[in-house]
Amino acid sequence: SAMKDPSVEQQLTVALRIRPINEAELEENAAIIAHRVGDQMVVLMDPSEDPDDILRANRSREKTFIFDMVFDHKATQEEVYVSTTKNLVEGIISGYNATVFAYGPTGAGKTYTMLGTDCDPGIYIRTLNDLFKAIEATSDNMDYTVSMSYLEIYNEVIRDLLNPSSGFLDLREDARGSIQIAGITEVSTTNAQEIKQLLTKGNIERTQEPTAANKTSSRSHAVLRVTVKQKSRVKNINEDVHVGRLFMVDLAGSERAVQQTQNRGKRMKEGAHINRSLLALGNCISALSEKGGSRAQYVNFRDSKLTRLLKDSLGGNSRTVMIGHISPASIYFEESQTTLIYAYRAK
Ligand code: ADP
Ligand code: MG
Repeated sequence: SAMKDPSVEQQLTVALRIRPINEAELEENAAIIAHRVGDQMVVLMDPSEDPDDILRANRSREKTFIFDMVFDHKATQEEVYVSTTKNLVEGIISGYNATVFAYGPTGAGKTYTMLGTDCDPGIYIRTLNDLFKAIEATSDNMDYTVSMSYLEIYNEVIRDLLNPSSGFLDLREDARGSIQIAGITEVSTTNAQEIKQLLTKGNIERTQEPTAANKTSSRSHAVLRVTVKQKSRVKNINEDVHVGRLFMVDLAGSERAVQQTQNRGKRMKEGAHINRSLLALGNCISALSEKGGSRAQYVNFRDSKLTRLLKDSLGGNSRTVMIGHISPASIYFEESQTTLIYAYRAK
């Protein structure tokens, strides 16, 4: 996959991150099939092939996927954050909306990218830190309040990850037609350590159940919603309240529940729900990315809870970042191929 010119401001950015190979994969004698050659990544169908040869020979049976950026196993959390998300912060403070998605099969590195680890935090924490810094640095006559909510969508129901005992939450449209989550916890804190603890604890509350393919496969979409309200200090209180929203979404594993695991019953239903919302999301994003072009089509947000929730933050003036994730190991070739196709289609 090749890269595009990142200096051009775009509404939709699609990136790909390929994590390092791990012990379990090596134990299964998996070969590394993802290689960087210059500014391109080559994913081999046959691990014994030479990636340089494939590019040099420009073999026609090979497929080319073009992304705005590609991160290999050497990419740091900071690099991924800076290239994909950092530049959204200014917009959020100015009242624009944006959404960042981590997409890919279970084990490919989505949660690592979004939540990260204690000593190497991901996009959630880095974004919040920069948001607080940016607000502190503004010298205009504005008051800013930042609040966050953390929820999951599992089998088309919404649960509050900061207050899991509160049951299922409903989506409602307010008088102005914007989407509200009835009864969701909103936390206002600028203490980074406290936020880290809240998110880590919330992540443990996510619905994770063992399947045959993986010990902990995330069956739910985890959504961190950050809201920035901007109010003029000098003007009338009710005047000019700007709201900027950033959604950061750790999507459910994209593996096909039926084929890759020996799923039955409940798991099959979950698989259907997961595929439904990922499909609805893919449809919305690709429809939006064609808006303005000759192939503009109707965008159906009502197809899933996830797309309904994100309705006000996809399209229009909102910016969208999709980070596809794959493993570099040969044993996951199928899943990687599916992920490349999905992410590329979004563009
Ligand atoms: P997912 O959320 O997609 O199921 P995880 O983020 O949980 O996958 O990643 C699976 C494992 O691989 C975790 O142990 C994680 O720490 C590790 N991992 C993922 N991406 C990276 C990376 N870029 N660098 C180092 N370790 C990673
Ligand atoms: Mg995960």
